[in-house]
Amino acid sequence: MQDRAKAAKSSNLISGATGDWEVVIGMEVHAQVNSRAKLFSGASTEFGGEPNSHVSLVDAAMPGMLPVINEECVAQAVRTGLGLKAKINLNSVFDRKNYFYPDLPQGYQISQYKQPIVGEGEVEIDVDGETVKVGIERLHLEQDAGKSLHDQHPDYTYVDLNRAGVALMEIVSKPDMRSARQAQAYVSKLRTILRYLGTCDGDMEKGNLRADINVSVRRPGEPFGTRCEIKNVNSIRFIGQAIEAEARRQIDILESGGQVVQETRLFDPGKGETRSMRTKEEAHDYRYFPDPDLLPLELTQEWVDALKADLPELPDEKKRRFMEQYGLSAYDAGVLVAERASADYFEKVAAGRDGKLAANWVINELFGRLNKEGLDIEQSPVSAVQLGSIIDLITSKTISGKIAKDVFDIVWTEGGDPTEIVEKRGLKQVTDVAAIEKAVDEVLAANPDKVQQVKAKPTMLGWFVGQVMKATGGKANPAAVNELLKQKLGI
Ligand code: ADP
Ligand code: MG
Repeated sequence: MQDRAKAAKSSNLISGATGDWEVVIGMEVHAQVNSRAKLFSGASTEFGGEPNSHVSLVDAAMPGMLPVINEECVAQAVRTGLGLKAKINLNSVFDRKNYFYPDLPQGYQISQYKQPIVGEGEVEIDVDGETVKVGIERLHLEQDAGKSLHDQHPDYTYVDLNRAGVALMEIVSKPDMRSARQAQAYVSKLRTILRYLGTCDGDMEKGNLRADINVSVRRPGEPFGTRCEIKNVNSIRFIGQAIEAEARRQIDILESGGQVVQETRLFDPGKGETRSMRTKEEAHDYRYFPDPDLLPLELTQEWVDALKADLPELPDEKKRRFMEQYGLSAYDAGVLVAERASADYFEKVAAGRDGKLAANWVINELFGRLNKEGLDIEQSPVSAVQLGSIIDLITSKTISGKIAKDVFDIVWTEGGDPTEIVEKRGLKQVTDVAAIEKAVDEVLAANPDKVQQVKAKPTMLGWFVGQVMKATGGKANPAAVNELLKQKLGI
């Protein structure tokens, strides 16, 4: 056990010209809260509306407008905190984070600083058979900013405030990740948890889950090095590429005798490199202070407990249950629980059936085909009920596994009831011994030389089985074929 953990760890090291380096990663993930209205106004959060069509007077920062907290956004943050096994702070405070930007009409962002709504928690990830616990430092609520539109006109930049004031959860991890793969697994896992909870859609393409990645490097065993923060990386693939490029850049600097400058950088996916954006701003630059328009946020333990009682089964629990209840491997269970919809589909197929067989069909046939055709589980042309009856036909030995794949393909392309398809197309497995025996005799008679050889080399039996299966159009029961061949050949 000890040895394996060591081997897995050392494989995370990056070799430089002068020896090995370890990369240290901490993430700040911004997740858009699933809520119909914004954090402090009743304006819609709908994506893709006409510019400035979802803007209230509060979002536009008209003088004298007062923010009013949206209870649903608070509930979503608490649910998320509970899902991250984190401490919920019954007292938290909203602060103003002051900075100037054209898409921020207030001149400050309402955020939480010293007293966030959620404290320390934890996310478990599995990478290469190794389980790593990534600590959560905190989760706080804050407003999103608007968007500057640069491509509308050659001479002007426009501002769209639809996103201004939308609730975000900033989820800050501890610097507990040690490879690009771990960081990718962390964001995927976080996304899965949020989607299970229904607190964020996790749609990275639409920007409703974005990661700021803090990267530093050190010699194994040394204290942490100086970090750089790579802003707003919006795909799992780019997270991996950005970390690898940034670690390499820092190693090159250190190995040539230089020093890493703490700064904010951007990842350029086209060039595969990070570039400097600005020097790191410090908390005091923002002149944080408690927002005088908002009272401290006070929650009761009963309210938090009620939310807790309503939480769905989360991916880790579901995975453990799948392993126990259906006898699945950790890997298969992990694949099935990655999306709640996939897990639900699997459970419908597995109900009252052999769990492992159901998992094989869902993972290999169904997911394989969905991936190939770029479809989500919700768009699957084969329903859980249909796949369930295909499996029943295998279990009752009505069809062989091979024919079942053909039936799956027919259901996929044409739809229909698997039992009827098997019936109508004459796909039923032949278990009638007389019929199989006839096919066996014909194959033996047609291949006298091979019959001589198989006696000395029993591994050739497979070839005969194949021939008989072919002769019966794949419908003969393979076990019966095997048995008969052995009898007749005397092996
Ligand atoms: P700031 O307030 O300046 O953003 P924080 O202490 O909140 O700094 O940390 C921000 C993020 O940086 C956290 O996710 C943390 O885990 C990560 N981090 C801190 N130190 C390091 C380091 N040396 N290397 C990599 N990541 C780090
Ligand atoms: Mg920060």
